Amino acid sequence: MPTIQNPDLRRALADRIRYYNELGIYDFYRRSRDEESPQGSAIAVEPEIPSSSQPELREEMSPRKSVAVLQPTDENIFEVLTSKPEQSVTDPITALKLIREDLGDCTRCKLHQQGRKQIVFGVGNPRADLMFVGEGPGADEDAQGEPFVGRAGQLLNNMIKAMRLRRDDVYIANVVKCRPPGNRTPERDECDTCSPFLMRQIAVIKPKVIVALGAVAAKNLLAINAPMSELRGRFYDFMPTGARSSDPPWQGAKLAVTYHPAFLLRDPRQKGEAWKDLQMVMKYIGLQPPKPSV
Ligand code: SF4
Repeated sequence: MPTIQNPDLRRALADRIRYYNELGIYDFYRRSRDEESPQGSAIAVEPEIPSSSQPELREEMSPRKSVAVLQPTDENIFEVLTSKPEQSVTDPITALKLIREDLGDCTRCKLHQQGRKQIVFGVGNPRADLMFVGEGPGADEDAQGEPFVGRAGQLLNNMIKAMRLRRDDVYIANVVKCRPPGNRTPERDECDTCSPFLMRQIAVIKPKVIVALGAVAAKNLLAINAPMSELRGRFYDFMPTGARSSDPPWQGAKLAVTYHPAFLLRDPRQKGEAWKDLQMVMKYIGLQPPKPSV
């Protein structure tokens, strides 16, 4: 196996990979031999270019972040530097702490300088079978540092209770961890920058089912652009980006989509539809539906 003898070259490779890790990019692939540079020892790390020539398709499908590493000439250093810190531990509590430490006082996207009080990482059972994912923190969540603690959070608590679960039984997180100003919808670049940390949380928790709360969460997790009417009512197979398929004993989660509790507060007539979604989830994880409505 070829190795990098030149210490400057090793340092340059390490710096470049750390740079991408800082951006939340951990997934790399190696180009095939016939794509490699004729100058075999040269190192080039470059962003992947989406193959579609249709701008609207690129926009809708939001290709996952990855980078091409040309001629990774030292596989040991490559493996060490692209490993996520939590992959060295098996205990999910410790693993989540490591992800939180890696996130740090995050300034990776512009939401860090748009009035956030604190990062809202996620809360709940690190071994939960059921995980809820929302869009982003609101004012109450920003103030308290916990997702879904305002009026929408109270409704989510009622939904969880109606499922015969406690809030402590599940894990709750958002696509972005900092409050968008004025509760605006998080922008694509903000979601793309922050969601790798959510993916890592999911990979550690290994839930049986993820419920995406609202269209923003659904579209970001599934990378598909469709109305709620099409997204709801079925399960999707979900494996977070970067999770190792060899991770025993988890083969990914089922993902269901339902309305965001804040939407249900605005339009309570849709609660019955949300309850249907939750009943579908309950059936899958073996819970008996006790009530006719949330
Ligand atoms: S939203 Fe996420 S990526 Fe952006 S600053 Fe906050 S923690 Fe960092």
